[in-house]
Parts: sequence; C-alpha cells; structure tokens
Amino acid sequence: MFEKELEALNKSSLARTIIDRESPQGKRIIINNRQILNFSSNDYLGLANHPSIIEAVNESIKKFGFGSGASRLLAGGTRLHRELEDKISMFKGTESAIVFNSGYAANTGLMPAIAGEDDVIFSDELNHASIIDGCRLSRAKTIIYRHGDIVHLNELMRNEIAANSSSCGKFIIVTDTVFSMDGDIAPLNEIYSLCRALNSELRTPNSALLYIDDAHGTGVLGAGKGALDHFNIKSEPWIIQMGTFSKALGSFGAFAAGSKDIIAWITNTARSFVFSTALLACAAAAALRALDLIEERPELIGRLWSRRERLVSALKEIGCDTGESRTPIIPVITGSIERTISISKALFESGIYAPAIRPPSVKIPRVRLTVTAGHSEEDIDRLAEAIKKLL
Ligand SMILES: *Cc1c(COP(=O)(O)O)cnc(C)c1O
Repeated sequence: MFEKELEALNKSSLARTIIDRESPQGKRIIINNRQILNFSSNDYLGLANHPSIIEAVNESIKKFGFGSGASRLLAGGTRLHRELEDKISMFKGTESAIVFNSGYAANTGLMPAIAGEDDVIFSDELNHASIIDGCRLSRAKTIIYRHGDIVHLNELMRNEIAANSSSCGKFIIVTDTVFSMDGDIAPLNEIYSLCRALNSELRTPNSALLYIDDAHGTGVLGAGKGALDHFNIKSEPWIIQMGTFSKALGSFGAFAAGSKDIIAWITNTARSFVFSTALLACAAAAALRALDLIEERPELIGRLWSRRERLVSALKEIGCDTGESRTPIIPVITGSIERTISISKALFESGIYAPAIRPPSVKIPRVRLTVTAGHSEEDIDRLAEAIKKLL
C-alpha cells in the first residue's frame, strides 16, 4: 500500500523525513551527535528554552500537575488558562480571548464556527494550510484572492455583492499577517479600510469580518503586540485576531482574541475547542511568562530585528534573491528543487541547518532562513559567509 505513491515522491525529490534533535530548541542544536547552528526555528526570541520560562513551567506542574484530564468545558482548564486569556486580551486590545491547543486546531475550529454555508470567505492565496482546511470545513463559499492584492480583493468582493444583492450571508476576509514561507507582511491597513467601508455601506452592520492569523506577528511586530499594533490599527468588534504561543512565545497552543460576543460564540461552537482536552496548564504558564518577558525586556525584540537586518544586508551584498521578506523569515530563492536541496545539504555539512522548502509547501522552492534573538552577530556572519561560498 502506498508503495507507488512513495516511489513517485522519492523520484521527484519531494519525500521528506523527520529530523530528531538531541538537545533543546535553540540557536545551536544537536543532531546525530553533531552540534549544528540552527536557522530553522520559529523560536524568534529564543524563549523555548529560557530559564525563566522553565521555572514557570516547573512551578505550574507542582501546582496543577501535568495532564488536563478533560475538555475545558468539563473542568479540564485551570486559573492559569483564564489568566492567559485575560493577558492576551490586554495585549491585543480586545474585550475577550480564548485559548486553543494549537494554531492548526484554532484555524480549523474557528473558521467553521464563524462561517457557514450562506457566508463568503475571501482568502489570500498564500494563507497557511490550517486556514485553507478551516475554510473547507466551514462549507462557506471560499474565494481566493491574489497574494496581498487589495485591488483584486476589492474587485472580487464587488462582484460578489453585485451577484448576490439579496443574499444575507456575511463576508469573512482572512489573511496571515506575516506569511510563513515568504516573510512578507499583508497590507493590513488597506484590508482594514476595505472592511470598514463595507461595514458602513452594507445593510446589516458588521457583516464583513476580518480574521487575521498573527502566528508570526505575535512577539515580533508592533513591540510584540502583533500586526495590528504594527499598523496602528485598533481592535474592532468585527476583527478576530488569531495567533499562537508556539512561535515567538516559545510555548505551545494558540488563541483567538475579539469581542465578548464573538469569543462567547466560539467557546460554544468551535469544535476543536469543545471536543478536545484542554491545553496543558504548563503550556499556559510558559506563554504567560513569555508575555511578561516581552514587556520587561524590549531589548529581546530589538536584538531580533538587528540580527535580521544584518543578515538581509549581507545576503543583498552577495546578490541573493530574498523575495519580499520584511521580517525574520527570509527565503533564499535558489532555483530548482534539486539545487535548493543540494545547497541546504551543503550548508548542513558545514554545520548549518537551513531547510529546503519545496512543493507542496511552496510553489517556488527556497532555502528558508529564520533569524532569532538568540543568534550572535558572528552566527549571522558565518551563515552569510557559507551561503556566499556555495553560490
Ligand atoms: C505555524 C502556523 C500555524 C499553526 O500553528 P501551530 O501552533 O504550529 O499549530 C497557523 N498559522 C500560521 C500562519 C502558522 O505559521
């Protein structure tokens, strides 16, 4: 079974394997007893193995134990979960928030909770796979707009309004804030204006919902507060901010933040929340401590951006194509799948881990680099030097 399918994957260099660390996540990881300089992690602030977070986790385990035992609605949650939700709503400037077990679970649970058969979703063509799956599960009509193309989005929305003047479904505009494979930022200011205009023009108020996936923006953009803050946009009752604890916050799990009513609705209807055992209390404890650290130590984010700038200018000097990257996610576009893989392999042999990303994750293969606050200037220079040699 699946022998032929696997063979086809292997032949086209698309088969992937799992890499197992023998060390904590961090700028240096140990793989097969070798120490490797790591440029693959989304642990942007170097918090995944931070002593203060480990201490918070240990304390929470002493107090609440490890397993959650049940769904949140059946007392699987703790006061830490609530505290985290309060903190997230403060951080994101919303009335309310709810935590999920992962970003994947959040998107696949949230989309069907807020969109149904009568509704229309407008989704950026490069949105994360979990959004795509969430759209499918919702059974709403899903219209894909060209990546970051506000003119196209507007045109598609106008067409839809003209074609269905009698329909009463709502519009849901959904986008990643920072795109996970290209590191570019969605034009949220323009998308926001479009949604606002629609909401004042359409018959029923709040009939256009804006749903943003801030997985890579939280802890990175807007002094850590995320993409809305970056664009100076205040939260609105018609905006839902989803994000994760699994990237810059160095923990695990995810959240949705928005109006009281939306969060109450989600609490009752998002199936990945209702029918799944609660997030581990220690994951909540870690995320809480991470949010504190971000506030107490703004130099973490400062260092992240300065390392990012250093790498991008070195790569530009070499003449690398880094696409539209504006964030610590930096694609280096190197041509065919085979060439991309061979560059990644050669880097690995020189002690640097920078994974090749290939279809179906992306259309154009690339070596995907992520810079973190944990990297030193020497680490950045070593990476740039190694890439220079190979190209
Ligand atoms: C990583 C990611 C997710 C999934 O989050 P997990 O917590 O890893 O399940 C969702 N959306 C985007 C944009 C992501 O990058």
